[in-house]
Amino acid sequence: DAVEISLKDIDQLAKTSFPLCMRHMLEKLRENHHLKHGGRMQFGLFLKGAGLKLEDALAFWRAEFSQKVGSERFDKEYAYSIRHNYGKEGKRTDYTPYSCQKIISATPGVGDHHGCPYRHFGEDNLRAALNKMGISGHPLEEIMDKVKNRHYQLACTMTFEAEHGVSCDTGINHPNQYFSESQKVLK
Ligand code: SF4
Repeated sequence: DAVEISLKDIDQLAKTSFPLCMRHMLEKLRENHHLKHGGRMQFGLFLKGAGLKLEDALAFWRAEFSQKVGSERFDKEYAYSIRHNYGKEGKRTDYTPYSCQKIISATPGVGDHHGCPYRHFGEDNLRAALNKMGISGHPLEEIMDKVKNRHYQLACTMTFEAEHGVSCDTGINHPNQYFSESQKVLK
């Protein structure tokens, strides 16, 4: 996969091409300058899968976390796990980004922002988040209907379709697939 994304493009790409789960985590990271472990894993591996290089990933997380915990503590306590995700520490396993199935079956606790919004948000929050993506009216009600019937990936697929104005026959089963399909449509 030769696709690369750079640090300066992350916010713009989030608006056009990130699935709701990843938009949400970027928003919370920008707001709180922090994400708990589950969020750092889910979002960090997604960014890696989207083509963010290790050096950029370290700069990205450091820029936020240093505002909260200071850059010294970031370097001491958090940089390791980012390098680890890229297979540069420990067993040097090259960790793969989480699939929708894995994300949907997560159990985020209080203060966690990982997980799948279709599964883990309350109805009002989900409606507000979808409104923010420009989705309302009939498409929104159809999406909420899928959520009620626990068809979370289908709800995400319909969001993709409403957002991009195309049909997605394969269906969404991975956040990085959402991202790459979006980039294909927008090119
Ligand atoms: Fe993210 Fe998958 Fe949930 Fe969509 S269905 S929000 S890509 S976890």
